[in-house]
Amino acid sequence: MEALAVLAAFGSTGRVGPLYPGARLREVAAVCGMPWDIGRIKRNHRWPHLYSYGDVEFVVCRCRIVTSVTVQTWRETVELPGQAQSGEVITLSARLTFAQVVDALAAADCQWEQCKATQGHRALRTLPQRVDFTFVTDDGAEPMLHVAGTWSHDHDCISTATVAAAFSDDFPPEQSRNRPPLQVPGAGPQPWANRQA
Ligand SMILES: [Zn+2]
Repeated sequence: MEALAVLAAFGSTGRVGPLYPGARLREVAAVCGMPWDIGRIKRNHRWPHLYSYGDVEFVVCRCRIVTSVTVQTWRETVELPGQAQSGEVITLSARLTFAQVVDALAAADCQWEQCKATQGHRALRTLPQRVDFTFVTDDGAEPMLHVAGTWSHDHDCISTATVAAAFSDDFPPEQSRNRPPLQVPGAGPQPWANRQA
């Protein structure tokens, strides 16, 4: 398995394995095992909560539904949930250029549109799934893939009272299990690394 193939499939289907906006946390955990607990989105609220399997991060709302999926690809490697066994994470090479991603999307028969470029970044959006691929343009001769992520799944969350009755076990238990310190020299700015703050 190559990271490029997984990302092209993400672009064309909006999914990474069982993870997609709208997926139920329990069903995802049944396949992938317990996710890593990255932290709260808002300090004073248990939900929404940010989890990950390796570099595949996802936000879960209080209805225990996945609302967005993001794959961090700015390091030399990317860790993805394995298919073979629950809880397994596989590590793949992840230095991917704009041209490589475009070729892989073409091979997957995936349509895309150019997004408006911003300072130091270039982006494309797949259609119709709307997975945004963002590249950095100041890290070598070619734009390098930094992150790929879905838009937020739009739904009205059920009431907190209904949630309390439906999910009284608070699965999975909240932990303060943070990622190990990142040690990637020259990785550049990481605006996504701090979003739970
Ligand atoms: Zn919800």
